[in-house]
Amino acid sequence: MTVNDWPTQLRERGLRVTRQRLAVLEAVAANPHQPAEAVHAAVAEQLRDITIQSVYTVLHDLTSHDLLRRFDPPGRAACYETRTADNHHHAVCTVCGKIEDVDCVHGEAPCLEAPAELGMSIDVADVVFRGVCADCQQAQAQEHPRRAAA
Ligand SMILES: [Zn+2]
Ligand SMILES: [Zn+2]
Ligand SMILES: [Zn+2]
Repeated sequence: MTVNDWPTQLRERGLRVTRQRLAVLEAVAANPHQPAEAVHAAVAEQLRDITIQSVYTVLHDLTSHDLLRRFDPPGRAACYETRTADNHHHAVCTVCGKIEDVDCVHGEAPCLEAPAELGMSIDVADVVFRGVCADCQQAQAQEHPRRAAA
């Protein structure tokens, strides 16, 4: 596990080092792909008075300075992670909602070609993999042994 020097990273981006920002970065680094509510719950263990609104503000500031990346799982609240340096994708389990990182084969955005006749300058092609994770497949096989064997 890499240790992040958050105070330096904040200063490098011209952001003040605050306890709120450090606590949010640490919470998101420890548990990637968490929605704001979960980040708030984790941060509130250290900073008992922090409001959900402050957490939203911090998440927004850190995301706009590329210290956090925001991911919007289809039909669910936005999630945050500290892995910002690459153009990775996400795989979402449609049963339990688990989110996994998927390395991009191309490595940089956009990794899908848009047709030239579209006439748009494309920055990003969002790719979200959806399916059933290994744990849920196993649980389903145990619940429905015959169906799984068929
Ligand atoms: Zn699952
Ligand atoms: Zn990710
Ligand atoms: Zn890709």
